[in-house]
Amino acid sequence: METYDALVIGSGHNGLAAAALLGDAGLRVAVLERSERIGGATVSERDRWPGYTISAASYVCSLLDPWLIERLDLRSHGYDAYRKDPASFTPLLDGRSLLLGADDTANGEEIARFDPADVAGFGAFEREATALGSALFERFADMEPRFAELEPSTRAAFEGSAASLVERHVRTPVLQATLATDGLIGTYCGPFDAGTGYVLAHHYAGRAFGVQGAWGFVRGGMGAISQALLSAAQARGVQAFTDAAVTRLLVEGDRVVGAVTEDGREFRARAILSNAHPVTTYRHLLGEAHLDDATACTLAQWQSIGPALKLNLALGELPNFLARPGTRLQPHHRATIHVAPDLAFLQRAHDDARSLGESREPMLECFMQTPTDPSLAPPGKHILSIFAQYFPYDRPGGWTEARRAAAAEKVIALLARYAPNIPNVVEAQQLLVAPDLEERFGLVGGHIFHGELLPGQIFERRFGVRAPVRGLYLCGSGTHPGGCVSGFPGRRAAQAVLADRVLA
Ligand SMILES: Cc1cc2nc3c(=O)[nH]c(=O)nc-3n(C[C@H](O)[C@H](O)[C@H](O)COP(=O)(O)OP(=O)(O)OC[C@H]3O[C@@H](n4cnc5c(N)ncnc54)[C@H](O)[C@@H]3O)c2cc1C
Repeated sequence: METYDALVIGSGHNGLAAAALLGDAGLRVAVLERSERIGGATVSERDRWPGYTISAASYVCSLLDPWLIERLDLRSHGYDAYRKDPASFTPLLDGRSLLLGADDTANGEEIARFDPADVAGFGAFEREATALGSALFERFADMEPRFAELEPSTRAAFEGSAASLVERHVRTPVLQATLATDGLIGTYCGPFDAGTGYVLAHHYAGRAFGVQGAWGFVRGGMGAISQALLSAAQARGVQAFTDAAVTRLLVEGDRVVGAVTEDGREFRARAILSNAHPVTTYRHLLGEAHLDDATACTLAQWQSIGPALKLNLALGELPNFLARPGTRLQPHHRATIHVAPDLAFLQRAHDDARSLGESREPMLECFMQTPTDPSLAPPGKHILSIFAQYFPYDRPGGWTEARRAAAAEKVIALLARYAPNIPNVVEAQQLLVAPDLEERFGLVGGHIFHGELLPGQIFERRFGVRAPVRGLYLCGSGTHPGGCVSGFPGRRAAQAVLADRVLA
């Protein structure tokens, strides 16, 4: 039996953030991770393809808590990021395309080629989206988040659809679709569904590079965030164990006192923090008999059916887009590359999944980190990461090998309509469909945020940081403010443990 002040179950970036903050406060802390790798969905893989570093799951960063970066001095532990600029590139089949970034004048010229009236509308949309994102960011560290305390107009925008937010300001179809995509990422909804306005705002909540809503690539891939957090934690005495799957929590009287791992080791502590998905924590590790009615009810209704797959490709040359030809590096190769010509396309992609099991033509969001950080691939080679919806976890008939292969083929074929050289330059591929995300990262239902980020599952209606049993805390994305690589759930849990003075 091993005894600590605090145990953290799971080494996702939130678990590591919580561990580091508790270590910083002088607690003896151990982290128990089920897989052989640290970082959960914030990970870089170096051993898959020689010479490549793949951000297997998450790939871009915006929401990482600036307070945490400073408090743990993550830069001295290797964290650094590059702003993504241009921000988005949406090619069309008729040869036109839309490239947007940090430069207002260049944005105006791009948009005016479609509709001069939308130049002002785009500015108005950006102002509204960043104001919503800012209002959200201000609440991210709240220990008692209250949805009702938001401004009525903010609440209305969050409860509305991404399409209505966008359509209020602009009318160019490709611009509408490009902007609405942020409201759909990871979410099993179409752009006209209520609540996708919140998801859109969530993607504008970050303050990377001191700019509201800016996104960036992390030097060395997303795993560099987890490695920096691990290094900061270890510098504060935290011990981390991999291949240490917790199979159950130890309950004595009215409190949780420890955890047992798969190989029978027993760890005891005054505070146990779970970074695992809430369904894992409550249904499989604790047992529902220990829950109060409110938590049991939240658990029973929790929506965590992931609609996305991730396809990572090693490319022998850059994509040659019909709309911006050439395989020499150009600005659009650094941007998020969207396949989303209009809102109807996005809605159809969603509706197909509900009625047919998957999209006939999926929404694609693609990233290439290698043009910005060439160290991630051998000279001249590139990584193209494709995030595709909708390929839901619970498709009728399940995910057979044939369906997996067909899904990858469909995604590549769709992208090839815009950049025909892609199929011929794919040198290796890694496909992660929703059940793979569950198996590999412990994301129940393959949901990238540990459950939908929709009204009904946000603010006080997400799981509480304090479990209904004493001694147990949740420190992962199932708590406020939810998924994405932010560190806020870990920070809030550490603050709760310290405020409760569990060691006193
Ligand atoms: C494909 C994909 C793309 C994404 N893209 C982005 C992006 O570009 N930007 C962004 O900000 N976010 C993105 N996200 C979302 C983001 O990665 C997650 O919301 C975030 O990483 C979750 O962090 P976490 O620390 O809360 O939990 P996780 O990273 O899920 O970590 C939980 C950890 O707990 C461990 N665990 C579970 N059960 C046990 C157990 N019984 N015993 C021990 N350990 C256990 C797991 O193995 C895992 O390591 C993406 C996610 C995915 C999957």
